[in-house]
Amino acid sequence: MLLTISTTYSPATDLGYLLHKHPERIQSFDLTFGQAHVFYPEARDERCTAALLLDVDAVGLTRRPHGRFGENFALAPYVSDRPYVASSFLSVAIAQVFSSALSGKSKERPQLAETAIPLEVKLSTLPCRGGEQLLRRLFEPLGYKISAERHTLDAQFPDWGESCYFTVTLQNTCRLSELLTHLYVLIPVLDDEKHYWVDEAEIEKLLKHGKNWLAAHPEQESIARRYLKHLRPLTDQALARLCDTDPQQTEETIQAQVEARINLNEVRLQTVTEVLKQCGAKRVLDLGCGEGKLLRKLLREKQFEEIVGMDVSHRALKIAQERLHYERLPERQKERLRLFQGSLNYQDKRLVGYDAAAVIEVIEHFDPPRLAAFARVLFEFAGPRTVVLTTPNIEYNVKFENLQAGTFRHKDHRFEWTRDEFHSWATRISKRFGYAAVFHPIGPMTEDVGSPTQMAVFTREDRAAERI
Ligand code: SAH
Repeated sequence: MLLTISTTYSPATDLGYLLHKHPERIQSFDLTFGQAHVFYPEARDERCTAALLLDVDAVGLTRRPHGRFGENFALAPYVSDRPYVASSFLSVAIAQVFSSALSGKSKERPQLAETAIPLEVKLSTLPCRGGEQLLRRLFEPLGYKISAERHTLDAQFPDWGESCYFTVTLQNTCRLSELLTHLYVLIPVLDDEKHYWVDEAEIEKLLKHGKNWLAAHPEQESIARRYLKHLRPLTDQALARLCDTDPQQTEETIQAQVEARINLNEVRLQTVTEVLKQCGAKRVLDLGCGEGKLLRKLLREKQFEEIVGMDVSHRALKIAQERLHYERLPERQKERLRLFQGSLNYQDKRLVGYDAAAVIEVIEHFDPPRLAAFARVLFEFAGPRTVVLTTPNIEYNVKFENLQAGTFRHKDHRFEWTRDEFHSWATRISKRFGYAAVFHPIGPMTEDVGSPTQMAVFTREDRAAERI
């Protein structure tokens, strides 16, 4: 199993200082499951590559007691990919062989350890249970450019189809310690296996190595679940702590954790996308767009010629820009999408003249007087033909096991409404500004408390009349 890390930072041989391994020496390390060797296939000022070769003792593995390796290892003495693929063995090797680099320390080049430098990683054989799609969902949000080549199951028998093994190249400009923590956590996540027993200590590892990035990662739930071997109590604990320990978390990630069990966010955004498509809109606004999840869906639909995301939070917009890989979008896509900062509490000329606006899980963040200002800003001044607006249904909160009785889904929510409260607000607004409102539940429907999300679709009267 071979991992290489290259940089073109100049002088590139400084990589040796960051990894604490001299470019001119081959070094070997004994590990409990085999040996690791570090050497440099190239060490020039313009480009330097360090290689970590992992020699897993295949025979030794088979002598270990069964059960330590999980069910997949019942056949271990006969068939095992472990010696040849990137797995939790590689994570352990990274932690032992590159421990200082992993924690971001460098005696000789402390500043460089803090600096984002161009890095490229090659993994000779990476098992991706979940395919290339999962590989991309895990690494792209962290800013990686990915190329992946899938191996056939057996070159002699092409009919057997594709394997789950890939040769992968990852490129990013980041600190070396960030890159190593990403690999440390995500390789076993992709492999969906661990060679050792997993208990609460594993949560500490996940939170330690995921400290600066996991809380904002869109796949944090599946990462935690797979990293903790699908053990529900451990996963729940990790996700709850992740949300406590990151004061920087944005609104939607926290609410998403409460609602995660039913994957409500996905259902909600899918429904909103459908409504926007159905109403025939071409130019659409996503107001309070947050990290841009809806924008991403809208971009995929050719019908939308102009898509605008607005949010009051610079931080959310920056995340949205990164998540959507705005800088790297092809020119034509870039022309369709615009992000800007603004507040829904103030009149804004930039919002005038659109076919439709989505306001998804936003109004509950407004103080009541601001809510009145918002209604004028949107329905009176901006006046899109269609408004799709969602907000939590407070009656449903009793169904969320991980939500304390009497609390809102997010601490920044100023209110959460019952179905009656939402209906009467929306009806009042419609009358006042000349719209007609239709209501839809989103998420699993219950007889007693309705659905978790409530949606109103407002259509401007001139338009509503046209339809009749
Ligand atoms: N619509 C997104 C995000 C919901 S979280 C989604 O459904 O995933 C609420 C968002 O509203 C946050 O990103 C917050 O920054 C934004 N927001 C709060 N007050 C706002 C205001 N006055 N104007 C614009 N955006 C606001």
